[in-house]
Amino acid sequence: MSDAPALRVGQGIDVHPFSDDPERPLVLGGVVIGGEGVRGLDGHSDADAVAHAIGDAVLGAAGLGDLGGHLPDTDPQWAGADSIELLRRVVGLAAAAGWVPVNADCTVVAERPRLAPHVARMAERLGGALGAPVNVKATRAEGLGALGRAEGIACTAVVLLTAVPGAGRPDGSEQSGGTAPGDGEVR
Ligand SMILES: [Zn+2]
Repeated sequence: MSDAPALRVGQGIDVHPFSDDPERPLVLGGVVIGGEGVRGLDGHSDADAVAHAIGDAVLGAAGLGDLGGHLPDTDPQWAGADSIELLRRVVGLAAAAGWVPVNADCTVVAERPRLAPHVARMAERLGGALGAPVNVKATRAEGLGALGRAEGIACTAVVLLTAVPGAGRPDGSEQSGGTAPGDGEVR
């Protein structure tokens, strides 16, 4: 019997191209980012790459597969979905498997728009859905590749989970059953 804390780390990454639809809002970390010439991201849901990366990290840490397996992009239920609600649902799945978030850290790679004015609000919204502190960082691709040409936005995330007290996994030794990874992704 180990005294090691029952902790699990997970990582996630998500990428969305910019949409050609000028009416589509840009939603990142649950925050609608407006401004002159700001384009939205293309996707089945609201295309919130930040919420999706964190959701994938939660599922990964809990050993529950990936976002596409739980919330397939072929399901009309998720068309235009608010990804903060998807994240809440994912946190619920992890909790049902005996894991709750400790914290999350993420990095958004966006050539434009400038995200610095929005990261505090994004962290607040994501933290509300996760039920734990979320740190949001923004960086640029310095002109390199598709992200550098501002063809889309990417986000990477790591999440730490701890075992729910009294959930029958005191030593964290039992991994919950994973689901098969989905072909589709919630885009
Ligand atoms: Zn996505």
